[in-house]
Amino acid sequence: MRRAVTITLSALALSACSTPGAAPPPPPVVPPAASPAASPSPSPSPSPTPSGLPAPGEVARMKRDGFPVVSSVPTKRKVVFLTIDDGWEQDPGFARIVRERGIPITVFPTRDAVEAKGGQEGGPGWTYIGAGGWPYFRDLGVPIENHTLTHPDLRTLGPDAQRAEICGAAKAIERHVGRAPELFRPPFGSWNAATLTAAEKCGMRAMVLWTASVQTDARIAYQTPDKRLHPGDILLLHFRPPLAKDFARLLRKIDKRGFSIGDLGAYLDDLLPAPS
Ligand SMILES: [Zn+2]
Repeated sequence: MRRAVTITLSALALSACSTPGAAPPPPPVVPPAASPAASPSPSPSPSPTPSGLPAPGEVARMKRDGFPVVSSVPTKRKVVFLTIDDGWEQDPGFARIVRERGIPITVFPTRDAVEAKGGQEGGPGWTYIGAGGWPYFRDLGVPIENHTLTHPDLRTLGPDAQRAEICGAAKAIERHVGRAPELFRPPFGSWNAATLTAAEKCGMRAMVLWTASVQTDARIAYQTPDKRLHPGDILLLHFRPPLAKDFARLLRKIDKRGFSIGDLGAYLDDLLPAPS
C-alpha cells in the first residue's frame, strides 16, 4: 500500500491545495441555479445514509505495519468520503448545508488560512475570506483534523520543523475547537519518512491522502485511469468559492451515481489498527 501511494504522489502534488497567498482561480462560469439552502432542488435529495456509518464487519482491520497511511477505504459498499482542506474561504452558506443536512465531511484546515484576516489574501470572488476564524470550523459540527500551521511542502523541512508544524497545528485545533485532531493530511500530498514519525509523535492516528480531487464546478479529477468513482474513494475539496454551490452540485452527482457519503472517522475506527 505504501508503495502504491508513493507512486501517485507526484500527480497528487500537482493537483493538491492552492498555495496560500497565490492568486485564487477566477470564479468559474456557473449556470444559474438556486442555492439548495434557499430553495430545495426538485431532483431527488442527495441522501447520505443518516449517519454514514459502516455496517458491522464491512471494513476489515488493517494490520499494523508502521504508521498508517490511508488513501482510500477498502469497502464494497458504494460509499465515498468528502474531505475539505485549507480554509481560506469561510462561507456561511456552505456551513448551513453541512449542519442542516448532517453531512459527515472531514475538514483539514491550515491555521494560517483559518486565521486569515482577509484583505490581501483575498481576490475576486473570495467574499468570505477570514470571516469566521476558528468558530466557523468549530460550529460545522464535524471533525476538524490536522493540515499543519503554515501549509509548507514538508519534504523541504527537517524532522524538527515538520514536528513543529504538525504538533503546533494539533495544539491550536484542540485549543480553539475543543477536540484534539487524530488525522493528518500533508499539504500538497508531499511527505517523507520524517513526516510519519512526526505525525505519530504529535498524536495522530493516521495520515489521510485521497483518490480524487474535486475542482470548481464539481468536476471530479480522478487519479484512476477509468475515471469513475469507486467504493471507498476519498475525495478532496478546498474551501474556495463558490463552495456552497459546487458542494450541492457534487452531492447530486454522487447521489445520481448511486453512492452515499460515509463518515470517514467511523470507517477509520474500524479500519485502523489499534495503537501499539
Ligand atoms: Zn492544503
